[in-house]
Amino acid sequence: MKNLYMNHLSLLNNFFYAFFILLTISGCTNNEGNRYHITNNYNKEAITYFTQVGFNEKGTLKKWQNDMTVSVIGKYDRNDLKSIDEFIKVFNGLSGNIKMKRKENGGNIIINFGEDKMFNPKGYVGLCSARSPFFFSNEISSAKILIAPILGAKQKRRTIHHELLHAIGLKHAIGLDGVKTEYKSYNMMGVNGYESIDDYEKQTQDIQNSELDKWAISILYDSSIKPGLKKSDFIKSIKK
Ligand SMILES: [Zn+2]
Repeated sequence: MKNLYMNHLSLLNNFFYAFFILLTISGCTNNEGNRYHITNNYNKEAITYFTQVGFNEKGTLKKWQNDMTVSVIGKYDRNDLKSIDEFIKVFNGLSGNIKMKRKENGGNIIINFGEDKMFNPKGYVGLCSARSPFFFSNEISSAKILIAPILGAKQKRRTIHHELLHAIGLKHAIGLDGVKTEYKSYNMMGVNGYESIDDYEKQTQDIQNSELDKWAISILYDSSIKPGLKKSDFIKSIKK
């Protein structure tokens, strides 16, 4: 009788133990901060830049989970296609499993070289809207880019690269605690905006390939970085 009771008790204990483990596992999957760690090593400067450009205004990271195809419409020329292909080459060299290529028609990223007053009522020189498959999703599944025809060749190239960086999921550097950033303008996401086209032409003469932008692509498409990651959890995991 005593034995039977003990067996029953240990069975009960096992049941609670199993329940406890289950709770712990589900607790972990609900908490990215505990589970999350970056597997690769990135330098401090790259991490600081990414902390500013990798998350939206709500502090959430969004990225593609499928390959990207870029189609072009409007009035474009050979140089524009060359600029796109240059970006694609750089991206594919850094993006791990997710790849990008050009497609004749119907790509999931459409670049319109032209005017679209509905999409661009304020007349920006470049614009990008990256979209998710449904409202709460942190995945990007399509993007629409507008490139104004008024730009000179160098600025157009820069604008194409800048808008494609938006399309893959990067934002403007907002500065820590909302302070305006001090990033040089050749860091594509390092500046908030320009006062006029003249200002833009003046500030973007210094065209270099920004190492920080390349690092930002690498970190964003690092397979250990998941869509929906919170900026606060990313910062916490860096400090560990
Ligand atoms: Zn922008």
